Amino acid sequence: MFIGLVHANRKRSKSGICKQCKEPIEVEELHALIMTRFGSVQESVRDLRAVQESAKRDRFEEPTGRRIGKREGLRYSRLHMTCLAKWMIVYHLYKSRWREEHRRGGRPDGTGALHELGDEVKLARRRLIRRRAETYRQILATNDDTRLEQLTQVIVALAAEIEGTGVKVISKMSRRDGKKAETIQRKIQRFLP
Ligand SMILES: [Zn+2]
Repeated sequence: MFIGLVHANRKRSKSGICKQCKEPIEVEELHALIMTRFGSVQESVRDLRAVQESAKRDRFEEPTGRRIGKREGLRYSRLHMTCLAKWMIVYHLYKSRWREEHRRGGRPDGTGALHELGDEVKLARRRLIRRRAETYRQILATNDDTRLEQLTQVIVALAAEIEGTGVKVISKMSRRDGKKAETIQRKIQRFLP
């Protein structure tokens, strides 16, 4: 989980307040300055340099950060070095819970590549994909040529059926590990039409 960017910092003029223990951070005391993001601002990280270099300060002489939209931006927190670990544990817990509550079940309804398919087609497609995964496992498990030829035919037939359901499988998105995929490819290549 991405938490934020951490700077080891010393304040030059005014003392600050530790986000964790709420005690002061004295001038010249080495402490952690953390930039966390709130909202959907993944892209904003590339703007970070501009933020860091910006001379803008609020009335407490703190960097103002940058608001990207109404509900997103960067947040600066100062922490005693000794409070950093505690803060991180709490932050991680908080963020994990938030994710659990808001992202249960993967991508939001109606945004996946499959959402336009009817339920029956989806179900059929899922079965085909499961059968294909099973066939791949069998290919990995055998070195018998006759068997490999049969299994390759099954793969070819399944690929056509899967394509028939209207959505191609994006291989980048499937979770097969690269080495296994190579092995499968090598084993079935000579039997492919
Ligand atoms: Zn503290």
